[in-house]
Amino acid sequence: MSSTRAVLVLGDQLDLSNPALQANPPGSAAVLMIESLQESKLVWVHKARIAVFLAAMRHFAQALREAGYTVHYSALADSGQRSLVEVLQDQCEQLGIASLDMAEPGEWRLEQDITTMARKQSLKLRMLDDGHYLCTRAEFATWASKYKQLRMEYFYREMRKRTGVLMEGEQPAGGQWNYDADNRSAYPKAGPGSISPPAAFEPDKLTLQVLDEVRQRFADHPGELDDFCWPVTREQALHALEVFVTTRLPNFGKYQDAMWTKTPFGWHSLLSVALNLHLLNPREVIERAEQACKEGQVDLPSAEGFIRQVLGWREFMRGVYWLDMPGMRQGNALQAQLDLPKWFWTGHTHMRCLGDSIGQTLQYGYAHHIQRLMVIGNFALLAGLSPQQVEDWFLAVYVDAVEWVELPNVAGMALFANGGRFTSKPYISSGAYIKRMSNYCDNCRYNPSLKTGDKACPFTTLYWGFLDRREAMLSANPRTGLMAKNIARLSDDERQKLRQQCELTLKKLDTL
Ligand code: SF4
Repeated sequence: MSSTRAVLVLGDQLDLSNPALQANPPGSAAVLMIESLQESKLVWVHKARIAVFLAAMRHFAQALREAGYTVHYSALADSGQRSLVEVLQDQCEQLGIASLDMAEPGEWRLEQDITTMARKQSLKLRMLDDGHYLCTRAEFATWASKYKQLRMEYFYREMRKRTGVLMEGEQPAGGQWNYDADNRSAYPKAGPGSISPPAAFEPDKLTLQVLDEVRQRFADHPGELDDFCWPVTREQALHALEVFVTTRLPNFGKYQDAMWTKTPFGWHSLLSVALNLHLLNPREVIERAEQACKEGQVDLPSAEGFIRQVLGWREFMRGVYWLDMPGMRQGNALQAQLDLPKWFWTGHTHMRCLGDSIGQTLQYGYAHHIQRLMVIGNFALLAGLSPQQVEDWFLAVYVDAVEWVELPNVAGMALFANGGRFTSKPYISSGAYIKRMSNYCDNCRYNPSLKTGDKACPFTTLYWGFLDRREAMLSANPRTGLMAKNIARLSDDERQKLRQQCELTLKKLDTL
């Protein structure tokens, strides 16, 4: 083996078909893998998120060795307080690496730092297109250049045509591109009933070591590890896919937006963790869902609703991220400045919807997309919390969070921080939406119908307060014109009371 050539595999590139590994078969190059304490400390990261990355990385290093690669693995204990790029530089110097291949990273800052280091060190660096994705960065940029406003739906249709997924010739299967209208049911009044559980994985010896290490090193970090059962190997990820498609996907479509107390996972796939670590390839996930649909095990609205998230939304988020960085990180179109309330880190709030959604986030490192968007994100937008603080929080607490997918979802979709770059309106709702989609309001001290008074629901108060403050913006947009009309109907006296209630609500954010 030449000692001058190496492949860098990052913690979210754990796939043997990584293009840099494909270009350098075993024996032709060393593989470098680096755990970095500094990366985990950048934001106050959930213990489960740290553990899932470390456990998956250490298992992948084993798989690489079994495949015949020589792996130089820098564990947390070796890396000390150094950043990933500092450790990489040291490794390259010690091993005499002159030429480094890697798949393009999932984070803008890291790409900049590695490129800068390589230039300074005269290291020959090749960043290869990451074939994990169905749309390359360049292809997305070409697609986006044709539009004034970017819309996921058009991109998704293009991807359906290009891949032939759920297509009958030139037409979408079933005659419709999108079954979103069939994907919005609440659970029945009596509750969700019995839900087939997702695949759960008993930690093996290696994972148990990681859990112990994380408990010790990151004792003061948020979150729990007692329920850690995420897939951390390729085999586990494939099993999780199979369990989802055969037992949960049939009900996923209908109930994907529904919420219920003590129902942290609903019918959701929980596959985003394995996908974002690259333990699963999106193609095989899409193919398996499409196959189940063709074989009649899953109806079309469920299969399409799921495939839309993987083939449409996920690829669209990545494309937008690379198009808009680094500016996306600074966006604050609505000038939102407030600090996060303390209960973002404890879940201790009287608002049942937020208590439940944040509580399960801290317990498992997981909440589903509606809890993230329409409960937590909605509140942050209505209250005017600082986008950068909210973005850091989302990146820290979810096991599946990597910046390319987290940032556009939070900044663009949830917070409207980039002024509607790829959304046609701010996604806001009052307590009425949460009441319709969950049972959270049943035992809450607040009343979702009230915008003023002691029992006023903070969502409802702040929603109307948002309409009041943003009336001009909302009336200028055909998609929010009705909202503007609703606020215009309030009398001066009602508006005055509403403004006082908003002020009071924002003053006592920490104790709501
Ligand atoms: Fe949430 Fe308001 Fe319902 Fe309480 S009443 S659970 S705060 S939406």
